[in-house]
Amino acid sequence: MRAGNSKNAPPRRFALGFPAAPSRVAGRNSIASFQLNATPKRNSINWFLYTMSKIRRQSCRGVAGRRPQVHLPEASGLRRATPLPRRIICALGIALLAGIIPGHGLVAGAAPADKGKVYQSRYRIIDVHSHGAWPALPALQAHFEVMDATGVDALTLLLFDPAGFPFTGGWSESNLRAWLQLRRQFPERLNVFGTVDFGRAAKEPAFFQDIVTELAAAAKMGMQGIKIWKNLGMHHRDSSGTLLKIDDSRLDPFWTKCGELGLPVLIHTADPREYWYPNTYNTFQYKIGNTGKYYNHPDVPAWEDLIQQRNHLLQKHPQTTFIGAHFGSLTSDLDALGDLLDRCSNFFVECGARLRFLYRYHPQAVRDFLIKYQDRILFGSDLFLAGDEKTLANEGSRKLWRERQTRSYSDYLEYFETDHLVTVPGGYQAQWLRLKGISLPAAVLEKFYHQNAERLFKLDAAWHGKN
Ligand SMILES: [Zn+2]
Repeated sequence: MRAGNSKNAPPRRFALGFPAAPSRVAGRNSIASFQLNATPKRNSINWFLYTMSKIRRQSCRGVAGRRPQVHLPEASGLRRATPLPRRIICALGIALLAGIIPGHGLVAGAAPADKGKVYQSRYRIIDVHSHGAWPALPALQAHFEVMDATGVDALTLLLFDPAGFPFTGGWSESNLRAWLQLRRQFPERLNVFGTVDFGRAAKEPAFFQDIVTELAAAAKMGMQGIKIWKNLGMHHRDSSGTLLKIDDSRLDPFWTKCGELGLPVLIHTADPREYWYPNTYNTFQYKIGNTGKYYNHPDVPAWEDLIQQRNHLLQKHPQTTFIGAHFGSLTSDLDALGDLLDRCSNFFVECGARLRFLYRYHPQAVRDFLIKYQDRILFGSDLFLAGDEKTLANEGSRKLWRERQTRSYSDYLEYFETDHLVTVPGGYQAQWLRLKGISLPAAVLEKFYHQNAERLFKLDAAWHGKN
């Protein structure tokens, strides 16, 4: 053993895994070398030798688990003392071995992501799913900085009414004007979707007509779409106290008007099926507070009922474009999601905050699915802008917020663009989970990242400019 366990050595993150070959779309994306000052310039001889030596070092770590952990520091004198020809032969041998050993998923072919680095995409990217409780320039500018660090060009701010769920207020249609005002300053970076306060259905007799006229007025003001949150179907009631169904016929004029005005409806229905499972050893949501509390509850409809109502809505309004938030809450069944997309050409989905539920699938299956439905899936993060002045005013909390957001975008993009092992974007109490990136082809990424959104949001040529 050339180096024993050192207390100073950083903890190893993965016991298994051959390092990945350079990215399949190398040249189109990169890992920003913020903390990698010693990396030689790409395509140079030194870069080749550097990569080979990295492969060799990682291969030593790759078989750990059967022997004590090893850490070879970057500047190890031992490493420098090894004769160059031996290093090259060793590295080539291991690279060859890595290539011929069959494997997938979480073992061969997947390199652990380096958590010290930020992944920066070179594609044009529109994030179609983000939120902000504080419609103010500092919040937006702070978020732009995070986007710039990772290569995200534009975000779509979705207003939503948090009634019925354990979130504090601040997101409501009253903020629409303020966000639209900000959009006027950054039309190429910010999209704004309004919302409906379905809490009014119980109190206002003319609610179902009023929201149709209000919709037209908001569209005139510059609103680009509507966000419908899961509290429709799960929480809001009509004047008789009956739970308002997603496919309630009294809402039909509203959905029709959305179609007529060309406003896409980004609709969050239900949640992952697993949220309804009781909190036992068997649930993926193990020990997460919401499980069994807000879902597996007599007042909340069954997951199947909510999905059925949503699917019925899609069929009733073929002229209206619907974007299902969070893969349409169908991450438990990609076959069912595929069938729904096949049946309803007015239905699209975005991927925000649900990558952790893809753990159950073969990475190749996820890749194949996104390739097959490349015209129907959009990129969304579900990240939140800074919630208030205090977050940004304090140096410590600002840094924390910024690092968390940057990490999340970085993990998303690295997952879609490389075959690295990445942590679950956004955390979501699943920090223990690693996913193998799906390395989507460039043409698919172009659609997923921006072309589909540009088509559905009717964004003009002013949006182009990158690449
Ligand atoms: Zn959201």
